[in-house]
Amino acid sequence: MKIKSKKILRNSFFVLLVVYLAILSVVYIQFNSYAVSQNQEKLQDILMHDKALQRYIEEKVKPVIYDFQKRNILPKSYFNPTILSFTYISRHIMANYNKLRISNNLNPIIYKIGSDNPRNPKNKASKKEMKILNEFNNGIAPSYKKFYKVDGKPYIYYALPVAKTKKSCLRCHSDPKIAPKDLVKRYGNKAGFHEKLGHIRAILSIKMPLQRELGNAYHLFKIFTIILSVIFIIIYTLIYYFVKKLDLKDEKLINQMNHDSLTKIYNRYKFNEDIKKIINSKRDESVFIIMFDIDNFKKINDTYGHPVGDKVLSELSNLIKENIRPADSFYRVGGEEFVIIATNLTPNQAYGFAEKLRGLIESHSFIDNMHLTISIGITKLKKDENKDNFYKRVDEALYDAKRTGKNKTVLFL
Ligand code: GH3
Ligand code: MG
Ligand code: MG
Repeated sequence: MKIKSKKILRNSFFVLLVVYLAILSVVYIQFNSYAVSQNQEKLQDILMHDKALQRYIEEKVKPVIYDFQKRNILPKSYFNPTILSFTYISRHIMANYNKLRISNNLNPIIYKIGSDNPRNPKNKASKKEMKILNEFNNGIAPSYKKFYKVDGKPYIYYALPVAKTKKSCLRCHSDPKIAPKDLVKRYGNKAGFHEKLGHIRAILSIKMPLQRELGNAYHLFKIFTIILSVIFIIIYTLIYYFVKKLDLKDEKLINQMNHDSLTKIYNRYKFNEDIKKIINSKRDESVFIIMFDIDNFKKINDTYGHPVGDKVLSELSNLIKENIRPADSFYRVGGEEFVIIATNLTPNQAYGFAEKLRGLIESHSFIDNMHLTISIGITKLKKDENKDNFYKRVDEALYDAKRTGKNKTVLFL
């Protein structure tokens, strides 16, 4: 795999990872806040029911009791919190509600009425509740909510004000002298009196553990994470597949660029590239350029035709390819002109190698028992020499071989 492709894959992996983590973070926050807001709505609903109960007692129950007292069905002194005290009734209803919650495997909720002037000390507002009550009385906010943790477990706290003190409330909450005797007898004449019209006497609050609800949200989040992971793995696999495909296409193009279509060996372009690399590298080994040209090739074309000439060129290329060392490189640099780059040889060895190849061609019978010869020029690439210099020298060596009779090897150092 190419360096460029690796870079594309690495970059797309990191981009995908960042997008993946960003989506997960946003969804995690959304799931959590959805679970919390659902719960908040639930608590608000419970407290609204409680407020409706308060209104029912004020508007429906108390008038009936007062009417009974007026008609002497009940004595003026009559007071029973079971039917007349909203705080008493709601506390008991909540206790039953919690029993039902527990029997249904639900967490019990912690319900509290907090008053600044309670009749029953159980309903005395804490410091924190007093602060919230004052906020309600000053009209700062219509409700109060807070999230907190106990032993690392998340809880939600939600509070609403009770209805403002009305005229009907004052019978029991203003002067103890006008309050029902039974009430004074039960609670004394100190607590819960001297209230003013329009004052909010208490807050209704609920604390509830969120563990279960957040657990459900977390479960959904896990499923979402699995689905998203699969999607991202598929996306990455597709990217990988396409990059690999482009790579293969690239390789094919490079292959075409470097090879000669007739003989399938390297071409002149590749030769120039390789020479550039060799010249630029800090090499220690010797580099020999062995250039050869077919003798009287024109005659073969003229006698047998161009297609036969082509076949001869292919056959000759194969023969040479099979007889050079794996480290040697073989190029077709012209019509019937070839070059071998051979390394790690002495001049004598290079000459011997060229002679061996020349003999091989001379003794080989090509199509239809045809024989041909080659002339060879050799030179050694000098240190710090440019391409034109050694090329000129090897060309001269080859020309010399041709000029002095062909079918021979000439070495110019
Ligand atoms: P010399 O011994 O001096 O090299 O004589 P030559 O006839 O080989 O030299 P010359 O360069 O005059 O001719 C080379 C011929 O090679 C000319 C051309 O028709 C032929 N040739 C070049 N490329 C191809 C090719 O791809 N296919 C075929 N069939 N012939 C080619
Ligand atoms: Mg020739
Ligand atoms: Mg030629």
